[in-house]
Amino acid sequence: MDLLSAALPTPIQELSNAITQKAGIRLYIKRDDLIHPTVSGNKWRKLKYNLSEAQSQRHTHLLTFGGAFSNHLYAVAAAGKALGFETIGIVRGEELADKLSPTLLFCENQGMQLHFVSRVEYKRKNADDYLQELAVNFNNPFIIPEGGTSAFALKGVAEMVPEVIAQLGKAPNYFAVAAGTGGTAAGLLSVGANVLAFSALKGGGFLEHDIADLLNGHCSISNLQLFTDYHFGGYAKWTPELIAFMNEFQQEFDIQLEQVYTAKMFFGLFDLISKKHFHNGETIVAVHTGGMQGLLTV
Ligand SMILES: *Cc1c(COP(=O)(O)O)cnc(C)c1O
Repeated sequence: MDLLSAALPTPIQELSNAITQKAGIRLYIKRDDLIHPTVSGNKWRKLKYNLSEAQSQRHTHLLTFGGAFSNHLYAVAAAGKALGFETIGIVRGEELADKLSPTLLFCENQGMQLHFVSRVEYKRKNADDYLQELAVNFNNPFIIPEGGTSAFALKGVAEMVPEVIAQLGKAPNYFAVAAGTGGTAAGLLSVGANVLAFSALKGGGFLEHDIADLLNGHCSISNLQLFTDYHFGGYAKWTPELIAFMNEFQQEFDIQLEQVYTAKMFFGLFDLISKKHFHNGETIVAVHTGGMQGLLTV
């Protein structure tokens, strides 16, 4: 991972305003958006051990999965180029081949080979027989699941917990994260953190099951609070209210969020804080998981 050297530990900053003061809580933001210019935020942490494993198994190719707006595909394309891997992206939606999104254009410019598949085929992304087919067709690649979410990802994300404890001088009561596949939430839970996870997708209830699966019985999900009502219409969808919130946040704290994940999480978190969800004196660390490449381009 030398070529992917990151700015660690990422800074932690307090966010204080009338809402946090009234609730008597301390809110911090963990600036993982600053971890690396192209392998951003939680994707850097999730890829770290996937990539070192691919290197030690002497793979020359990486293969992974994503949609038109996938920060993960973007990160894998950049990391693969930096580390000398050929990269293959299995992209959800055959129709996308004719009109590449800015994210997919970047991937292609990094040398990623894009392979567009139907939504039906994409659903097989975790099926053993499908993965075997892909291995045969694409030079026996190291296969990274959608979103980078694997046991290796959990290990990388877990490293954030001692990092934060060292920075704060104590464990926070809660970590708050946006959730897509739930891998980041699972990584934090895997080392005993209390996690507030905000689904960026509609119908995010499935995340509870997926996160439990990722933890594979090693620890329970009793430390998880999952919030599924702050999706603003669904994955990569948003409303004027969300954009107004994101702009106010930028003005108030001088920190830019993006509308796919982090603005939804902070909107939900401030809503909960103002509804007295937390006790006086509690400390919350909200993770800025990055994703800035998708800011209002999707
Ligand atoms: C991918 C991503 C997430 C979701 O992470 P999961 O581990 O899939 O839940 C959250 N925030 C940003 C900015 C992301 O790019």
